Amino acid sequence: MTDSQSVHDGAAPAGAWAAPGRVNLIGEHTDYNDGFVLPVALPQAARATVRLRTDGLLRLHSAQTDGGPVELSVADLAPGSVEGWAKYPAAVVWTLRAAGHEVGGADVHIDSDVPTGAGLSSSAAIECVVAAAYSDLHGLGLDGPALARLAQRAENEFVGVPCGIMDQMASVCCTEGNALFLDTRGLAQRQVPLDLAGAGLRLLVVDTRVKHDLADGAYAELRAGCERAAALLGLPALRDLAPAGLDAALDRLPVELRPLVRHVVTENARVEQAVALLDAGDLAALGPILTAGHASLRDDYRVSCPETDLAVEAAVAAGALGARMTGGGFGGSVIALVAADTLDTVAAAVTTAFAGAGYATPRTFTAVPAAGAHRIG
Ligand code: ADP
Ligand code: MG
Repeated sequence: MTDSQSVHDGAAPAGAWAAPGRVNLIGEHTDYNDGFVLPVALPQAARATVRLRTDGLLRLHSAQTDGGPVELSVADLAPGSVEGWAKYPAAVVWTLRAAGHEVGGADVHIDSDVPTGAGLSSSAAIECVVAAAYSDLHGLGLDGPALARLAQRAENEFVGVPCGIMDQMASVCCTEGNALFLDTRGLAQRQVPLDLAGAGLRLLVVDTRVKHDLADGAYAELRAGCERAAALLGLPALRDLAPAGLDAALDRLPVELRPLVRHVVTENARVEQAVALLDAGDLAALGPILTAGHASLRDDYRVSCPETDLAVEAAVAAGALGARMTGGGFGGSVIALVAADTLDTVAAAVTTAFAGAGYATPRTFTAVPAAGAHRIG
């Protein structure tokens, strides 16, 4: 059957799903070190309508791309076989089959308002929405962590990005009104209430609209550096180095690895501090932790850039309680924790600072903790 009309009978299983982008409050570059993270799902999400096909074709369309649908043969999917944006949804179908699930093709129409390439995880949103749709339509019964692991494997093995699991876990497992306290080793998770409005606070997101070219290669190199440091220390992962043992451990490492290790260990501790503050209802005290996290990413891990540094600096100077880059770095977005009545002032101060530096106008919006992947139709 090759005529798409003939497989579009009303009986074909179909539906609509949504999976969100995310910001991460604290815990950056800790996930691939088996550490803690604290992401929050955004109201912005990838939405997908999916209708199963019986002819082995995967037809992918995105409202955010030019041109018609990309048509692929499910049987021919292999890592490296798909170029461009279609590799993200195709990766999920390939991974499901590689994991032994007997799934075939579908018509997939994607419409997402997650800014792309902005460190807000538009890629994981696409992967997770397709994974959730396939799991439901095929009755696979995959739970949240299973969907996230599958989507991460899709990005690692098919797309070719050696990412950790935070983005996918956030997109699947976050819940409305909460941050997700996640132990990326073993995926133990806890929903931590994040009642920003109740505390008179807002979480401002600044998308700097820049993504520097070195991002991809640098990520893999940093990850390799962390793994080398853990091996030299005889540890399974840097997560296993307690803050109390940090100084002694640094002395045993080559100079170039020391700042990486210092970032991971202190950042992991900052996640625990942040969760303790949220549990105690002291949301405002999160501010300085965010700013300390940014300093660590800037000075030790060296993944910030002039644009994210300026956004943090301008936000804090204008009265933000704290600010930091979110996502992998080298551009992308910054989050700032602000008192509700200073939201506009802080956003305007960042925009003015960007104009003064000759940077493109940043996009600013407020993050409200939203729900993870779910069926919408
Ligand atoms: P991030 O995940 O931080 O947004 P990535 O570089 O990991 O950045 O992923 C961005 C890529 O994901 C885009 O270049 C595009 O290939 C794909 N993508 C994201 N959203 C969409 C969309 N709505 N339509 C098509 N492709 C998308
Ligand atoms: Mg991504």
